[in-house]
Amino acid sequence: MTFLVRVAALLVGALAAGAATAQAPLKIFDAHLHYNQEPNPFYELDKVLEIFRRNNVAGIIATSRPNKGTHQLVDAKAPGLWVVPFIRPYRQRSDIQTWFDDPAIWDLIQAEYKRGHYRGIGEFHIYGKAAAGDQVKRIVNFAVERDLWLHAHCDEEALLLLFSHNPKARIIWAHTGFSTAPERVKELLEKHPGLMGELSYRGGITESGGKLSAAWRDLFANHPSRFLLGSDTWINERWFAYDGIMKEYRGWLAQLPEEPARRIAHGNAERLFKE
Ligand SMILES: [Zn+2]
Repeated sequence: MTFLVRVAALLVGALAAGAATAQAPLKIFDAHLHYNQEPNPFYELDKVLEIFRRNNVAGIIATSRPNKGTHQLVDAKAPGLWVVPFIRPYRQRSDIQTWFDDPAIWDLIQAEYKRGHYRGIGEFHIYGKAAAGDQVKRIVNFAVERDLWLHAHCDEEALLLLFSHNPKARIIWAHTGFSTAPERVKELLEKHPGLMGELSYRGGITESGGKLSAAWRDLFANHPSRFLLGSDTWINERWFAYDGIMKEYRGWLAQLPEEPARRIAHGNAERLFKE
């Protein structure tokens, strides 16, 4: 090959690689996933795995009520799917109201933990002063001592109580407070280095027409390493809507520079959970 031909070949190769990168849908890590089954899952495992595949979801935080669904996702060892299991402190839906001071739930956490592969506890729901209780404190300390994340669906008061039990706690804040002012989210992230914001159901990220809001563009620019995406498949409707949920995420991620978009889509989760 002459020099010029070689340069031309390199250029064509580079262009092709660039086009391929631009076309490949951004890989996503789903950091808020429930494969609930009471008593049976709505979708069989194969169907769920196919939903991840077609959305280029390459990793998940797996949780389920009861934990059997998580065991199935782990045991499936599906190619191309990285499963990060969290212990769900619920056997049935009504446990949402009582788990935080029910000794049977403490026992459940201990028994599940013995399986040896868990990386966190949650998602759990806790509001206000309920987070001040003894069992919650024990769970926070248990998590810190074993390097586990907590996945908390909570108000700000409960979030602060969780950190007051142990400032070393690492907490994924489910829904990032739903509607907490972005300025306040920023303060909380800066005050608590162990806090990550998960963005399912989070209001205010986009405005009409799917345009990223100025406040959230700023927050992502200042703290690109502190956010995670999630589907929150807590009811069957969220499985029906799964493709649309991921499409919406991709819509606003595409309005960010490539590096922060990649971090939020999957890089942050990889950093958090890499072995
Ligand atoms: Zn959830």
